[in-house]
Order: sequence, then C-alpha cells, then structure tokens
Amino acid sequence: WALRKAGLGVLSNMAGDAKPITVIEDTALPVESLPEFYQRHNQILERLGLECVYYAHVGSGEVHMKPILNLKLESGRELFRTIAHETALLVKEYGGSLSGEHGDGRLRGEFIPIMLGEKVYQMLRSAKKAWDPNGLLNPGKITDAPPMIKSLRYDTESDANYSQYAYDYTKTLGFLRAIENCNGSGDCRKPHTAAGTMCPSYQATLSESDSTRGRANVLREILSRGASTKAFTSKEIDKVLTLCLSCKACKSECPSNLDMARFKSEMLYQRSRRKGIPLSAFLVANATSIRNFGTLLPMIYNAAIRSRLLSAFIKKLLGFANERALPIIPRKGIRHLIKYMVTIEQQPAKHVLLFCDEFTNTYEPELALKAYQLLTSLGYRVELIERCESGRAAISKGLLQEAKRLAMKNVALLAQKVTDDCPLVGIEPSAILCFRDEYPELLRGKQQEQAHVLAQKVFTFEEFIIKEFKAGNIETSRFRPVEKEIFYHAHCHQKALQHPKWDANILGIIPESNVTVLDCGCCGMAGSFGYEAKSYSTSMRIAELKLFPAIKATPVESIITTSGTSCRQQILHGTNRKVLHPIDILLNALKDNGA
Ligand code: SF4
Ligand code: SF4
Repeated sequence: WALRKAGLGVLSNMAGDAKPITVIEDTALPVESLPEFYQRHNQILERLGLECVYYAHVGSGEVHMKPILNLKLESGRELFRTIAHETALLVKEYGGSLSGEHGDGRLRGEFIPIMLGEKVYQMLRSAKKAWDPNGLLNPGKITDAPPMIKSLRYDTESDANYSQYAYDYTKTLGFLRAIENCNGSGDCRKPHTAAGTMCPSYQATLSESDSTRGRANVLREILSRGASTKAFTSKEIDKVLTLCLSCKACKSECPSNLDMARFKSEMLYQRSRRKGIPLSAFLVANATSIRNFGTLLPMIYNAAIRSRLLSAFIKKLLGFANERALPIIPRKGIRHLIKYMVTIEQQPAKHVLLFCDEFTNTYEPELALKAYQLLTSLGYRVELIERCESGRAAISKGLLQEAKRLAMKNVALLAQKVTDDCPLVGIEPSAILCFRDEYPELLRGKQQEQAHVLAQKVFTFEEFIIKEFKAGNIETSRFRPVEKEIFYHAHCHQKALQHPKWDANILGIIPESNVTVLDCGCCGMAGSFGYEAKSYSTSMRIAELKLFPAIKATPVESIITTSGTSCRQQILHGTNRKVLHPIDILLNALKDNGA
C-alpha cells in the first residue's frame, strides 16, 4: 500500500514543464476489451509522439492514463486536445465511458455529444435549461462547455529565476515548477472526519483559499507573471499563507507531495528581503536568545511574564493572543542538570549523541535529563549536545539567512561526530527533523553534501528507540507494565517526515501496555501559530475538530502523551490535562532506571 500511495506522487513529480496531465485519466471500459483497447491506444500515442504514465485499478476496467504534455507550449496544448478527442472516439467504439469516476465537468464537457450522442446531449441541455433558464448554476460545465483548451491556467511559457531562492529547487527545476506540481486533485479538501492530517486550515475554515491547492493556485498565478518584488510582496499571497500552519501534512499526504510549509518559508523570506522583517517575526525567530537571557535569572523572567501588565505588553510586541499564557522557565536550568548527569555511570558500549534543542533546553531541561537517564540505563554512552539551536523558529518565520547560519554551524559541528555507530537523537521532533528536512535544502556545495549524509543518521527519539528495539538492542523485559491506559498523539512533523521503517508505536515496547494511537490530525498549535492573535481562533478550531474531543473522551486517570512541545501546550491549554513526553513514561516503566 505504501508503494501504491507513493506511486501517484512519483508519477506526478516529474521535473520540468512536461508533466503527466489529467485529461484521459478517467476512461473506463469493459475489462475484457482492455487489452485490445490499450493496443490501439498505444498506436495513437505513438503516432502523436507521446508517452504516458499509467496508474491504478485495472480490475474495475479503469486505468488512469496521463499523457506527458508541456502545456506551456502551443504545440503541447494542441496535442492535449487531440489526444482527448481521439481517445473519446476510441472509448466510444468500445462502449466505454470517458468519465468513469471523476466526472466530465469543464474539461471533458465538449466530448459529451460524442459519448452520449447528439440527441441525448440535447435532452440534457433542455433539462438544464428548464431548471436553470438563466444559466446561473455551474455555467459551462457538462452542457454548453467551451472548448477544453480555452482559459487554460498555462497561458504562456513562464519561468522564474530561481537562483535567488533560499532553498534548493534544482530537483524540480525551479520554485515555480515545484508549485506547479499541484495536479488539482483536491485531496487537500478532505473533511476533518477523514483519516490523516492534510489540510488542517482548510478543515477549520472550509475555504478553498486555506487549502493546499488554493495556496498553490494563488502562488502559481502570481509568480507566473514574473518573480518580481510586486509578486513577492503581494497581499493575495500573504493572505492565503497566513493560516498555513507549516504542519507539513501536505508533504506526505498530497499525491504530488507539495511542501507548502517550505513554500511559505521561502515566500516570507523573499518578502522580508524586500520589505524588511516584521518586528514580531524577528522576536519569535530570535526567542531563543531572549530565553537564554531569561535562563540566567529565571525568577525575574518568570515574574515579568506573570505580571499582567508586562505579559500583555510582551504579547502585544510578539503579536500573541491574550488568551495564551507565555511559558515559564524552570529554575533548574540545563547547566545545573548537566552537573547531575556527569555523575551517572555510563557504559562504554553504544554511543549516542543527544540533541538538546532550544525548546527542551529552556523550558523542559528535566526532559533532557530523563532522556539521558533512560538511554544510559538502556546501555548507551550518551553525549549531550546542548545549547544548540535547530533554527525551527527562523525557518517558520522565513528568516532564512539566520536558519542557514544555524544549519551551517550545526552541520560543521556534527558532520564528523555523527556516524552510523554514533547517531544523533532528538527530543523535540520539529527541531531534530530540521536536520533531515530543511538543512540539506538550505545549504549548498560541500556543506549540502555533508547535510545529506548527516540526515541519514539523525533520528527522533521514537525512531531511535524503535530502531534499537527492532535490532534487539532494547528488550521488553527491561520494562514493567504500565497499568494505566495510554493515549498517544503524534506530532505533525513526525507523521510527515518519520522514516516508515521506524514508524511504530514507541510505547508498544512496554509489556502489556494498553496504548491507543490517536488519529486526531494536527493539534493546531504549530509553534507560534497558535500563540499569534491573527491565528489563535483557527488554532483552537482545529484542535476542537478532533483532538480536544478525543482527549476529553479519555478516562481522567489515563495518560496522555506526545513528544511535541507545541502539542503538549495546546492540550494543556484546551483540556487542562497534563501531558507527558513518551520519555517520561518509558523512564517510569524502566526497571532499575537509575533515577
Ligand atoms: S495540493 Fe496536492 S492534494 Fe491538493 S489539489 Fe494539489 S495535488 Fe491535490
Ligand atoms: S503545511 Fe499544513 S496547513 Fe499548510 S498547506 Fe500543508 S497541510 Fe495545509
């Protein structure tokens, strides 16, 4: 099934302007006529000099055929219509349908007279006219459809100079072409009741402009007129990107694997190059430095953010909603805990580097200590990589020069240290996954090569534990059963970027554990998104669609767990339930945990 799921993405993501095009993808015929039909259809393709990709359900008489066409060229547009017309005639000959499951709509409307015959078509027209004499309802669809090549989205050959972009788009031959990979299928308009996460903003607002497709269409429409200052500072683009949570669900769930989080990051960067960095974005992206200052005097910092007046002022500066509480800094910082860590006896055997990201470092240093204790007790020699910043906030705010600087620093620091026998393991998924997802595309030259190699040796905490468990290096017998029921919510970046090989329930390694993995989509928090006044209500609406009701339905004595810092904050804010990191649960369940 994974291969089937990946198939459409692989077929759709063809680099360059020639793409597999949706036009004759819906032909359905009696199964017994398929061999002869395809033989004859291949002859048509050969005569027209076309290649085609084929996908899905031959058993029901329908194979999705997508001829490869360049619709930016006049000749490509002509072939587009020719292949549709000739296929319609052939399908008719075999008594099939041109629209087996997707419908005729605007694209195949002009061929309905061929498929149904002129007499039946005229009956359809008069039925439509009787109910809609003024042609107000879906004009030009099915009946009286204009020629299929009229008003195509690709009016002219267009391209954008992509050397100016922060991310590397060589694989897609450009930024605009990466956006054009959207095939319009509309999978990003699934309701929240469907499985999966994509697209939380659409599910909350039910507005096309808040779907991945809506965003891709606006970006494409504006950028195809030229990658100019006017385009990058366009209000329309700003508007459609505002509610994108950068959750990355589209990167894994969209059949074309559109990465709208990256496009948003790129667009914010391009915008800030031309219009300057907004103060709130600057402060959010540099929050680590501010927090580091706070860790020197946590009592004063905490008193300041607890004071109603000061906290309201800080929130105003940051553009945060008043309803949110700013996180406090624990009194015992990471430095204090490191002193304790060095007293823990280590075994020389397996070596692992523990990435103590900026969020854990400041707000939950205890978690780093617990991860350290857990890994040490399981027989690993742990080296803490502390005071390292992943750059996640800078990436999400489009401060990509800063993100690049951090990526270069981290790659230079870790490229030699991290090996197959000494992997890098992270606590907060969104931070550690920067190494896998963003660094290789932000860097260039030798550092880019190093980042690609490093990305193979970087793991989320869950991935690492599952990998070691599967390799027989961690045994179930090391843990005692947890009596309470456990409900596990996975962070969006984990769901989108986790290696499928290590995609398993981490808490399943505890014997007799009763763990339910929640299918609740996105928590709606997504770093600063849920804090910001302009997106607070959408953030809450997203959580209220699935996650909050699911949490509220769990027994109060059960354990709620997730490894995302944002997810924990959101669940606490919306349900008042305490949420643990899986590290807490594993450490508590470990026999002889050294705690
Ligand atoms: S963004 Fe992806 S899921 Fe949405 S319409 Fe485009 S290809 Fe389909
Ligand atoms: S990153 Fe998330 S919110 Fe943004 S378009 Fe993709 S699925 Fe939707």
